[in-house]
Parts: sequence; C-alpha cells; structure tokens
Amino acid sequence: MKLISFYPGPSRVYSNIPEYLYEAYMEGVLSYNHRSEEFSAILGETIKLLHEKLNIPKDYKVVFLSSATECWEVIAQSLTMKRSFHFYNGAFGEKWMRYAKKLKPKVTGLAFDLEKELPVDHKLDSDTEIICVTSSETSNGTMVRDTLIAQLKANNPKSLVAVDATSSMAGINHDFSCADIWYASVQKCFGLPAGMAVMILSPAAVERSKSIGEEAHYNSLNFVLGHFDNLQTPFTPNVMDIYLLKRTLEHSKGAEYIYEKLLKRRKEFESFIEGYDEFQFLINNERVRSDTVFAVSHKDPAKVRKLAFGSSILLGAGYADLKKTTFRVANFPAIKKREVEKLRTFFKTHFR
Ligand SMILES: *Cc1c(COP(=O)(O)O)cnc(C)c1O
Repeated sequence: MKLISFYPGPSRVYSNIPEYLYEAYMEGVLSYNHRSEEFSAILGETIKLLHEKLNIPKDYKVVFLSSATECWEVIAQSLTMKRSFHFYNGAFGEKWMRYAKKLKPKVTGLAFDLEKELPVDHKLDSDTEIICVTSSETSNGTMVRDTLIAQLKANNPKSLVAVDATSSMAGINHDFSCADIWYASVQKCFGLPAGMAVMILSPAAVERSKSIGEEAHYNSLNFVLGHFDNLQTPFTPNVMDIYLLKRTLEHSKGAEYIYEKLLKRRKEFESFIEGYDEFQFLINNERVRSDTVFAVSHKDPAKVRKLAFGSSILLGAGYADLKKTTFRVANFPAIKKREVEKLRTFFKTHFR
C-alpha cells in the first residue's frame, strides 16, 4: 500500500481483504441473492464465528445494521419508551445523546471529566430505561473499562446498559456479559471497509424490544430480529462486508490474542512517546486512556501530520476542536508490526 494508515476510522483494512474480495467475486458471492440458502449459510456462519472469536455469550443475539449511527437511532426508536440516560466525555458520546433526543425529547445525560473514571455511583432515576456509555471515545482517546460498565449495571439492575464499542469491539477483549447492548461499525477495529455495523443484544434487551413492540420502521429492532432468527435480513444487506467479516474471523487468532497484542503495543507506544518533550498524551490518567485510540498533544499537529504524510504515513487528525492541539494514532489489530516500526522511525528521524 502506498500510504500506511493510522487513522482511527475509516482505518487500515486487513491485508487479506484484496484476496478475500477476489475470492468473493470469483465464487459469485457478491451477486448472491440475499433470500438464497447460500446467503443464509454465510450469515449463520459469520454470526457463529463472531460468538466464538469475540467470546460473545451464547444467549446473546447478533444482528447487522448499516452503521453505528443507525444503531444510535435503533436504540432510541425500538428500545426506549421515553428516555435514555447518556454518560459522555467526548464528541461521539454527545452526538449519540443528541441523536437520541431528536427521537425521544426527554433524553438526559451527564458530561464527565476527561481525566476521571465513569461516575458509576451517579444517582439515576429508578425508571431510567437505558444507560448509554461509549467504551472507547474515539474523539479524545479515553475509555471506560468493562469492570466499570459492570458496576454501573450492578448499581442499576432495572436499566439496560448500552455500549458504543465502535472503536474497541474486535480489538479489546470485551466481557459482553456486563452490558445488554453493544455495537460497532466495521471500519475501525474490525479492519473492514465501511458500510456495516455489528449489534449484540442480551436476552433482556431482546425481551425489552419485544415488550415495547415498536414496528413502524424498516429498521425496527423486532423486525430485524425476526428476520435474523430465520437467517434473513429486512433489506438487501452488505453481503460483501458480511463475507469479508466471515473470512477475517476464520483467519483470526481470537480476542485474547488480539487484545494482548494491542496492550503490548500500547505500552511500547507510551514509553516511546514519553521519550519526547514535545509530545504528550492528551489524557494523563492511564486508567482512562484508551487502549485503541491514542490522542497525542503537540503545539503544531498539522505540521506533524504533514511531515508524516511525506513519509507515506497517515496520522489521524484531532477530532473537531481538538484538531488544533492533537493528532490521533489508531492502535487497531489490522496494523502491522513493520508499520508501527515505520512510525517509530519517522518520529526518530524528525523529532528529538
Ligand atoms: C466512528 C464512530 C461512530 C460513527 O460510526 P459510523 O459508522 O460513521 O456511524 C460512532 N461512535 C464511535 C465511538 C465511533 O468511533
């Protein structure tokens, strides 16, 4: 590839993608009728592999939607009667709340400090239907650990807990049993071309969807679940992404292996960055610093990115307002060891 991408989404796709695409083309998969047995077989196999490789509990259901943004809407439309509650400390968490509020005006939330852990003891109304958390806040490089999500759930046993895991699922080895709804679009840690999202639902979430009984939309969750129960989809799905997901999962060494690799890389990157005076992590508190997206502060991030580009390295721009003070580096599984080494060499060559 011409350019090594460290962009945290859309991000580097797995290097086997061209091979799998060629295969899909040759075998006619890309033209499969989505009502055919062949398609259903691929769909079923992909969901089975997701359970196996990502350690998803057996009784949790998996459905595919089009994007994380669509998941925001589906949660508001099909799993919320009056209001969800949103913990956020960055752009994506806040956007989720705003989108939910358009559909359910009584939605509320709490902004928490970038350097602080999720305030799990924050008193919530006992009738809070869904508590929403972002596991890795891609905009600022913070994260909420699963242990805290589990505590949040234990403190609010009547509420469902929903997690935006867009830049952590398939990277971090999540304990999915600690929440009810998890979702991620595939162009981040999954290392696939954009155009699909994976949504994971606990039995309680499926139950809630049924009891609310919302059926008014093409993507109403009950309608989607009904189709997936028969290995069907409500609309023509992204067969290409489903196939690529299946093939990459077949090749995958599993969540434990991948997460260990990412943690090792994180440690190496941290000690590397600490060697420079002019670079600092935006997030000082290591407990809340993301394992998968690093936000690095610099006095002139545009210059750093431009220099990197000259060395065929694509660094992520800071998100929105953070663009002037930070750049971002993805720590996603598809990035290769030699690419990380090239990044280090770039820093060593240009900075002291
Ligand atoms: C990228 C991202 C999204 C948006 O994903 P889309 O596929 O564009 O809908 C949502 N949440 C988080 C945390 C993200 O990183």
